Order: sequence, then C-alpha cells, then structure tokens
Amino acid sequence: MRPDMTLAQLRAWLLRYADCIDEIADQLTELDAAIGDADHGANMVRGMSKVRMHLLDASEPAEDVAALFRTVAMTLISSVGGAAGPLYGSFFLRAAQTPALAGCTVVSTQQLAAMCRAGAEGVQNRGKAALGEKTMLDVLFPAVDALERAATAGLDLPDALAATLEAARTGLHATIAMEARKGRASYLGPRSIGHQDPGATSSYHLFTTLAATINAAA
Ligand code: ADP
Ligand code: MG
Repeated sequence: MRPDMTLAQLRAWLLRYADCIDEIADQLTELDAAIGDADHGANMVRGMSKVRMHLLDASEPAEDVAALFRTVAMTLISSVGGAAGPLYGSFFLRAAQTPALAGCTVVSTQQLAAMCRAGAEGVQNRGKAALGEKTMLDVLFPAVDALERAATAGLDLPDALAATLEAARTGLHATIAMEARKGRASYLGPRSIGHQDPGATSSYHLFTTLAATINAAA
C-alpha cells in the first residue's frame, strides 16, 4: 500500500486548521448567533489555539499518528466548553483508536478514510444525532462516504480529497434547509431553517485544510 500522508503532514494539517479557525472565527460566531448562543467561534479558537501550542512545543512531539490524534482529542476535551469540544474530542479520540494505527508514521488513503469513519462514528456515539438533524454529522458522514469510495476506487490522495471536499460542501449547504433536532439550535424548531449550521461549517474546514495541506505538498 502506498503511504499517502505522513505524520508531519497530519501535524501540518492540524496547524493549518488552527489558522483557518482563527480566520473564520467571526463567521462561526455569526452563524451560531443566528441559531445558538454565538460562542462556536470562541470555542473553536480556544481549543485549536491550545492544540497549536501543544504541536509547536518541540519538547513533546507525538511519535506516531495515534499519539498525535490523542493529544488533539485531550486538548479539545479539556479546553473547550460547549458541545463542540467533547464532540471534536470524540472525533480525534476515536480516530486515534483506529485498528492498526499504533506505531504508524504514515497512513494510506484507506487508513485515512478508516480514521475519519471512526471519528465520525465517535461524534455520533457522543452526540446521538442522526443524519439530517443539522449538525456537524451532515458534513462528516457524506465526506467520509466519499473518501471511502475514492480510497476503494484507488484514487490518489489529491483526487480522493477533491471528491471528499465536494461531498463535504454539498453536505454543508444542505444544512441550510434542515430543521435542527439536536443541540441549542433545536430550541428554535422550524425557525432554525434557513441558516447554515455552525458546527457543520467548522467540520467542512477540516476537509478544506486537509486538501490544502496535501496540495501544498504535491
Ligand atoms: P454549544 O451548542 O454548546 O454552544 P457550540 O456552539 O460550540 O456549542 O457548537 C454548536 C455546534 O455543535 C452545532 O452547530 C452542531 O453542529 C454541533 N452539535 C450540537 N449538538 C450536537 C450533537 N448532539 N451531535 C453532533 N453535533 C452537535
Ligand atoms: Mg454555541
């Protein structure tokens, strides 16, 4: 199996995601102000700034992919209040527990897909939301489905991520028409319709930054 993504690239992805979160913080705040409590930007900035600090601290570099993701998970769970911290924490924790990942310093497209599948299922286990309930799952599941299909078809990582990003974008836009059934936005009932979900937006950028990291290296 051709190793497609190195530990250094996964670390670069997480740093890029932290920078991206800083850039889109105002948008996340505005989206959450419309259907929640206007803290999703601040929650994500707080969590990913802590993740950035850990990653840049050369005295404790992760020795494999599982350790890298475990560190991210623990940092998010311990530093972010609100729903998003434990949910993203579950994503990275479950991704870290993907079988055969221990000791890996490179991952194939299939392993990356398996990690993201485990992560998305971790979010679902934690939050008990289903597809179509206007949450981050409405991005994560379609994106992971596309990534798995691409991996099975034998696509190179850049092409696989292009397909993944397309599916993530479609999923993100689909949240606009949905009525929220989980989290704070569900308190609004039908008045949540017509607004893009904040958590789906931050999840979409997991994939824009993943694609950007790979394309920067290509
Ligand atoms: P809070 O809702 O506690 O203020 P945030 O504003 O940081 O936390 O995050 C809100 C986002 O969390 C929502 O936009 C949604 O995508 C996601 N979310 C909320 N509840 C759930 C859930 N049960 N399952 C999956 N995602 C959820
Ligand atoms: Mg909120």
